[in-house]
Amino acid sequence: MQICTTLSELQKVLTLVKQKGQTVGFVPTMGALHEGHLSLYRRCQQECDVVVASIFVNPIQFTNAEDLQKYPRTEAQDLELLEGVGCDIAFLPSVTEMYPQASTLKISFGELESVLEGKYRPGHFSGVGVVVAKLFHMVQPDVAYFGQKDLQQFLIIQQMVDQLSFPVKLVCCDISRDHDGLALSSRNVRIPAELRNQAAFIYQSLQEVSKQMPLSHEQLLKCIAPYYAPNTDLELEYFEAVDAQTLLPVHEDNLGHPIALCVAAHLGGVRLIDNKIVQK
Ligand code: AMP
Repeated sequence: MQICTTLSELQKVLTLVKQKGQTVGFVPTMGALHEGHLSLYRRCQQECDVVVASIFVNPIQFTNAEDLQKYPRTEAQDLELLEGVGCDIAFLPSVTEMYPQASTLKISFGELESVLEGKYRPGHFSGVGVVVAKLFHMVQPDVAYFGQKDLQQFLIIQQMVDQLSFPVKLVCCDISRDHDGLALSSRNVRIPAELRNQAAFIYQSLQEVSKQMPLSHEQLLKCIAPYYAPNTDLELEYFEAVDAQTLLPVHEDNLGHPIALCVAAHLGGVRLIDNKIVQK
């Protein structure tokens, strides 16, 4: 595996790859790699000649300075894991390499960013859009892999790729879960041990609602009540059933489309998100 920390190193390596006519698969992450990330790399490895990973904790997508500062950084372990899944090129740029000048560019995603995560994390998706656009220019992948775990992020990147004509195919990969259903996340290590068993309630609530669909919003809130405060330590931020393509509320026009059940909740100071797509 070749490790590059500067854009010029990366471009040198990629020029050779392109000369050979090999297909480039790309998996961008913020590191602290877990099995969920590795499932993306495995899929990429199966489908592309060359696997490129980027690890970069992108400061401009954080809306909370403490969250950025506390974000786990496990570079040595990440590099070992990348070797293990057959990654060919790892790109680990510094903040100044990625942003030689302060980033002032803003990208607006219209309605798609006004809902769910966008409501609670203003500016987050603009920061994601800017960094992914930069990485796509740098890596020029044929295919890029993202997780359904961040469904809204995937749809926003798809919108950007379509509207700015990036020549890349996007693949949305299934959510990898812990033995009890908790969606794997780099943040899970920060869940206090004594509360960890309650984290499973998030997936349980998604399962329960998916069995009962279709439900009105009031019925949905009743259905999930036993899983969240005041019965438990899980504090619900939102739980919504939306059109899985537009993330807008389900109504007569989009009846018959797949529905995404999307949830965000806090447990012991850690913000957790999850979702499930149901065909109803
Ligand atoms: P992150 O490093 O958290 O920005 O995530 C990098 C990529 O891994 C994103 O496309 C995520 O959606 C994806 N990802 C994170 N957690 C999981 C998971 N549990 N299962 C599948 N993909 C995931």
